[in-house]
Amino acid sequence: MIAVRPGLSYIRGVTTLTLDAAKCNGCLLCLKVCPHPVFGPLKGSVEILEPDLCMECGACVKNCSEDALSVNPGVGCAAAILRGWLTRSGTECRQ
Ligand code: SF4
Ligand code: SF4
Repeated sequence: MIAVRPGLSYIRGVTTLTLDAAKCNGCLLCLKVCPHPVFGPLKGSVEILEPDLCMECGACVKNCSEDALSVNPGVGCAAAILRGWLTRSGTECRQ
């Protein structure tokens, strides 16, 4: 299943992004540094609104002072899709 957004497509349900809401202090830095609208504000915290838009770049994790986020940068389908685009070999997702 492919999630289609203007300009980019991702495979659904494969991102390694997780949020521990109990640790979140609501600074919203993750929302500001994320290149896609993955996060949304939620009563002094954030929520993951669109996980399938996550390209596993790791920017949110590196900027979270509370260690509330985790992702395995570059090991998910984002890497596979980018590799497929760059090599023109298709966009298969392999772990
Ligand atoms: S950067 Fe971390 S602490 Fe700040 S809003 Fe995002 S998850 Fe919460
Ligand atoms: S890993 Fe990158 S794309 Fe995914 S939520 Fe964090 S900042 Fe956004």
